[in-house]
This record gives sequence, structure tokens and C-alpha cells, in this order.
Amino acid sequence: MTMKHAYNSFSQWLRRQYGTRVQKISINYPFSCPNRDGTKSNIGCIYCNNSSFLPEYTLNNLSITQQLTEGIRYFSKKYPTQLYIAYFQNYTNTYAATDKLFEIYKEACSHEKVVGLAIATRPDCINENIINILAEINKTKKVFVEIGIESTFNETLKLINRCHTFEDVEHAVKLLKKYNLWITGHLIFGLPYENIDSVIIHAKKLSTLQLTCLKLHQLQILKDTLLHKYYISDAIKVTPLSVDEYIHWIITFLEHLSPDIYIERFTSESPKDQVIAPNWNQIKNYHIAEIIRKKMNELNTYQGKNFLKE
Ligand code: SF4
Repeated sequence: MTMKHAYNSFSQWLRRQYGTRVQKISINYPFSCPNRDGTKSNIGCIYCNNSSFLPEYTLNNLSITQQLTEGIRYFSKKYPTQLYIAYFQNYTNTYAATDKLFEIYKEACSHEKVVGLAIATRPDCINENIINILAEINKTKKVFVEIGIESTFNETLKLINRCHTFEDVEHAVKLLKKYNLWITGHLIFGLPYENIDSVIIHAKKLSTLQLTCLKLHQLQILKDTLLHKYYISDAIKVTPLSVDEYIHWIITFLEHLSPDIYIERFTSESPKDQVIAPNWNQIKNYHIAEIIRKKMNELNTYQGKNFLKE
């Protein structure tokens, strides 16, 4: 009997699809965010500190092409044959005029080693015009749209000042599916007042949505964020998860999740000097993934084990 895979791995999908290792490469473009520029709010999500996910090569005002060239030079020392996905990660990367967006995305796709484009955005910053552009690019380079979901509970979304609802997520996913685009959802575990029962409900709601892929992250309290202030003052009760608790939550979540959804990541890796809590000693995503896989095999469990059982 062949052993079931613990979970449906996105990196293995990439390898099957492109026949080699594929690396995401972060591109920094000065987009803004409606949750910071006053359109929705001017304070942002309470945990947001965008500088925590900018690699060094994106910080020198380089053009998109220069950032890609620098990034590819850096990574190809170790993996000369690998391919790349240009990744617009920080802020809201569909928040600009559609002509401008097309120009930006086309430049990122023009590098011969770039096989795809990943675009992180908010569910309320997706509309039919933008999707038309993405669908056009998707004809030649694979487009991965990453939507910040964070929680499936509107009370939590309000508390963390996301300034969108879960219904906005449902609407964005419906539009993207109409054009057959890849949809990756982003979810945070450990948000205030959520617990292991919350993650089971997340799994059920997200399975119904039929996302293509998911990125899971632990809540991190980063320096100089509103969450940091609340954490110090106890204005909002935040209990950072230990690695063991987090792994338990992840496994439970995966058991209730549709086996068709790919899993791309399990952790955030912010710079050490910016993380107030939890202190996980800079554990890497691949290490957590290994622990999860091993533990799930020991427990003889797998993604989707409890899917549709209740
Ligand atoms: S939507 Fe993203 S960029 Fe905007 S405030 Fe929230 S975390 Fe920050």
C-alpha cells in the first residue's frame, strides 16, 4: 500500500509543472494600500509592517528589471538552472490604474527565466478590469493571485482593522474563478480571540470556496505596529502560539481541509530584530514543513482526512 501524502504540496506541483526547482523572487514596486492611504483607513491592519518582508535587493530604488536581474544573480549561485516567479508581495499590488498595472506586470514577465507572476492583493482590490489584464498575461506566463483572507470571521477582520469582509473574499474568488485564474489565499493563525475550533471552521469555509492554494502563517507581533502597542497595553488579548501549538492547529486544519487545495507555506519569516513575539528562533518554513509531514505520518493522518465527514 502506498502511503498517502501528508498534504498537497505546492512546491511539488511546481516541480511537476516546470520539471525543475522554481523560486519566487520578490519585487518591490511602490504601490500603496487603500487601508493606509485613507481610502478605507489610514492606520492599516494592526499587525502590518511591510518593511518586514522586503529583501535587501529590493531596497535600492532599482527598476523591476534590475531587481529581477539582481535577485536571479543572487539565487542562481546556488541553483543555476532554476526558474523564477516574479512576486509582488508588499502592499496592495493591484492598487493602481489598469494601464499602469499592465505595464508593470509585463516588465516583470519579460525576463526569460521568469515563468510566472505572483500578485499579492486585498479582496476588495480585485475587479473585472484588473482580472482581464491578469487573464491576458496568464495566456503566456502563469499568474498566481494571492488574496489576503487572514480570517473567515468578520468579527476578527474588524478587530484587526482589515476593512474588508469575508463576503468581499467570496466575491473576489468568484470573479477570479470565472476567468479560471489560480487563487492562493493567505490565512493567519493565532489572531486575537481565535482558537483551534476557529481553524476548523476556516478549513470548512475555505474548502467550500474552492481556492487553488493556501499560505498559512503564525501571527507575529512586529515592532512598531499597532498590535505591538495593544500587546504591551493588553488592550487586545493576544496569546502568541508556541511551535507545538501551531503545529497542532495546522494538522487539525489540514485534516478538515479539502484534499484538492495546495499548501504553499506554513510560516512567516520576519527579520529577527523586528519580531517581538513569538520567538521561534528563526525557524525556517522548510523545517516546520518537515516537522508537520513527519508528525502527520506518525499520526497516520493526512489533508482531508475529516473533510466532508461532518
Ligand atoms: S492590506 Fe496589507 S499592506 Fe494594507 S495595511 Fe493590511 S497588511 Fe498592510
